[in-house]
Amino acid sequence: MRIIEEHINKKQPEGLKPDGTPYNVLIIDDSMFIVKQLSQILASESYNVIDTATDGEEGVRKYKELYPKVDLVTLDITMPKKDGLQVLKEIMEFDKDAKIVIISAIGKQDFVKEALLLGAKNYIVKPLNREKVLERVKKVLI
Ligand SMILES: [Mg+2]
Repeated sequence: MRIIEEHINKKQPEGLKPDGTPYNVLIIDDSMFIVKQLSQILASESYNVIDTATDGEEGVRKYKELYPKVDLVTLDITMPKKDGLQVLKEIMEFDKDAKIVIISAIGKQDFVKEALLLGAKNYIVKPLNREKVLERVKKVLI
């Protein structure tokens, strides 16, 4: 009986598609701390971090290389080589259906507004918190 109850109460991790395979996430961020934090939060719900990029140029290149496997991108704004807005423009030009969530520092509202106008689906303000990250990511993938 206990086994049956446990089975019934066990909810499917949010990072899995209905077919049981994980959503693939590409993390583009120059902060290793944020990359690690996001990876841990996403892994805790069985999302698959398919790759990470630590500057904008690498981020665009990896999105194109991995296409169409990436289900969601988390994108930092302030980064070397190409900033988040430029990366967003280039990815959206390449794939108008790309699902991109902006990871923003406090006080970057203008950037966030522009990013949303350019096609970003949502944003998360740092410091990152597990519930907030999972809620925004889930919303974008539904
Ligand atoms: Mg940064």
